[in-house]
Amino acid sequence: MATGATRRAIVIGGSVGGLFAANLLLRRGWDVTVHERARQGLESRGTGIAHHAETEAIMALAGVRDENPPGVHVPGRCAVDASGAVVAREAYPQYVTAWGRIFNPLRAAFPAERYQAGQELAGLAQDAEGVTAHFADGRSARADLLVGADGLRSAVRAAVAPAAQPLYAGYVGWRGLLEEAEFSPAFAPVFTQFTFGFPGKGEFIGYPVPGAGDSVAPGRRRYNFLWYYPVDAGAALDDLLTDAAGHRHALSIPPALIRPRHIAALQADAAARLPAPYAEAPLRARQFLVQPIFDLDSPALGFGRVALLGDAGFVARPHVGVGVLKAAEDARALAEALEAEPDIPAALRRYGAARIPPSRAAVAVSRHLGAFIERRLPRPEADPSLGLTLPGLLALSGRPVADPAAWVRHADAH
Ligand SMILES: Cc1cc2nc3c(=O)[nH]c(=O)nc-3n(C[C@H](O)[C@H](O)[C@H](O)COP(=O)(O)OP(=O)(O)OC[C@H]3O[C@@H](n4cnc5c(N)ncnc54)[C@H](O)[C@@H]3O)c2cc1C
Repeated sequence: MATGATRRAIVIGGSVGGLFAANLLLRRGWDVTVHERARQGLESRGTGIAHHAETEAIMALAGVRDENPPGVHVPGRCAVDASGAVVAREAYPQYVTAWGRIFNPLRAAFPAERYQAGQELAGLAQDAEGVTAHFADGRSARADLLVGADGLRSAVRAAVAPAAQPLYAGYVGWRGLLEEAEFSPAFAPVFTQFTFGFPGKGEFIGYPVPGAGDSVAPGRRRYNFLWYYPVDAGAALDDLLTDAAGHRHALSIPPALIRPRHIAALQADAAARLPAPYAEAPLRARQFLVQPIFDLDSPALGFGRVALLGDAGFVARPHVGVGVLKAAEDARALAEALEAEPDIPAALRRYGAARIPPSRAAVAVSRHLGAFIERRLPRPEADPSLGLTLPGLLALSGRPVADPAAWVRHADAH
């Protein structure tokens, strides 16, 4: 590609990671287009997420101007026992929000004519001068830089680092969202609690999120539950991810295709294992999502003129709740490295050096937090050799890792 002219970037994947990168590069003078496989519907895809001030700061850099509150404010988190009584508390004021509350403003901040929906990357080729993306519809595009922000099953990663494969953790996340009004009055005292429960099978988490129109007004909010639920790899996982027509979905099954008997089994477990009033959440929910939980580690984040970003590069289990923040921090580090270093391959090496250590730390900490589920233990502290206590779990879940290196040392030691 010509030097001296505006530099051109192709971003593959138009979810949160791709939009952080595209908005940040555009605002630093790059000519950017986003190519997203899905034709529509991304805005309604996510459920609840833990929100962090750091994410908000990078959203502002990415051009998001949003006066609305970032989510529902919770003062801390608590753990409940089998009777529903609180047995541990951790003060940690934070916002919990809906995934769309991040995606929608990022999408609105990016020029619509530069966002090409319905374009699936089929292959790529690079040389000393540039990189070419080939799409499934037969079109192609050439640029100075290609950013792979195409998630866990990244086609970009398959092209540049095919040996890096997601590893199934041995459990799934069952999720559901309910309107505040759908609960019985008994739920009201716990509705705004960020609650962790250990029903003897995985880990149950519930918290409030904004409702329709991003409303955080009492009565108009929603409740998000997430049950980390053991499902053995092989026949059991295949069965869960297979639809009524016999098709086995690779990554996660679309909500409408989950077979009713799987939901019925989850609800039976909820009735038997979850304390009142929390059992109401899975029992009254009308739509469910099921997401197998994976670990992913990549050998590098820069491959010549190709960068990996967000879930395409590293996936930490959601216990740490930093998937969106990690994608945002990747995008900021990428934009900064490209500004500091004009040679693109050298800039991508700098980007990798900045982002691989914290990404690996997030993966290690999240594995540590999920180890008791993987080992089919009923509670996090059931096996002291794991080095996990209830207060420790409450302190680390759903927040950025303050000192990643210390936690990696801690996890390694156990
Ligand atoms: C159960 C669960 C709970 C979670 N909770 C939290 C939380 O509390 N906080 C948090 O921060 N994160 C959470 N996450 C993680 C978070 O959702 C992800 O980390 C985040 O969405 C990653 O964004 P991304 O843009 O990198 O990838 P994705 O959101 O996966 O986007 C990838 C995009 O690429 C597109 N694409 C794929 N292949 C192609 C192709 N060949 N060509 C073109 N486009 C393509 C896809 O359609 C998609 O839009 C959770 C995840 C799970 C599973």
